[in-house]
Amino acid sequence: MEDDRLVIRVPVIAANWKMHKGPTETRQFLEGFLPGLHGDGGSPEVVICPPFVSLEAAVAACEGSPVEVAAQNMHFEEQGAYTGEVSAPMLVELGVDGVVLGHSERRQDFGETDENLARKMVTAVSAGLTPILCVGETEEERRSDETEAVLSRQVLTDLAELHDEQLERVVIAYEPIWAIGTGLTASVEQAEEAAATVRELVRTRDAEAAEKVRILYGGSVKPENAAELLAPADVDGALVGGASLSPEDFAAIVAAAPTS
Ligand code: PEP
Repeated sequence: MEDDRLVIRVPVIAANWKMHKGPTETRQFLEGFLPGLHGDGGSPEVVICPPFVSLEAAVAACEGSPVEVAAQNMHFEEQGAYTGEVSAPMLVELGVDGVVLGHSERRQDFGETDENLARKMVTAVSAGLTPILCVGETEEERRSDETEAVLSRQVLTDLAELHDEQLERVVIAYEPIWAIGTGLTASVEQAEEAAATVRELVRTRDAEAAEKVRILYGGSVKPENAAELLAPADVDGALVGGASLSPEDFAAIVAAAPTS
């Protein structure tokens, strides 16, 4: 069963750089990081998510390597009067492979809604971008036993406009908000339980997609805790913030991913 899982679902280790690293630092990071990467068949998929202005540098530096590049947000429309926004076709033109959608910092600080996200998910998948959809509860919601209800609302609404056959192309990151950038991590049991809940929610849409969709854990993943957090059967990788800013630490997290 375990082996089947690894063959079907290649782990994903993604670096969310947030508002760090302009083009020069992006190139420097990748010069240090890429040579140590072993891109053989048993390796996880590695994704770098730099700020918009560094995407072009990242795409150029990653050319010929197995590393993929994703943006950290995008608009749901293809073009229009949306000052300061970036569209899916623009990202595709740059050679970007994916996009993080619904990160809790965007939900909490920039008014991102599940309704908007439902539209963004369709736009991303239709453009050929792999969305990394972030979901997760606040500390208060966990304390009041609302985690499952929050995940249910987010996952079902955010995926609502995708056709069933598009679901397997989605990556979902379970990121408890209380563990992001705080140094606190979910316990292995909490990560496992939430990832299983997310998979069951996808199963209510489509059983085959539920087996194929990759579900990541995010929240203070570090070289020291990566192996145990990546071990549960339903956890298919990690979305890494702070520790992904160091090429050495990020490489150590990539090395901790289970091999297929
Ligand atoms: C994130 O921002 O997605 C994240 C998981 O951050 P950190 O690893 O720093 O908690």
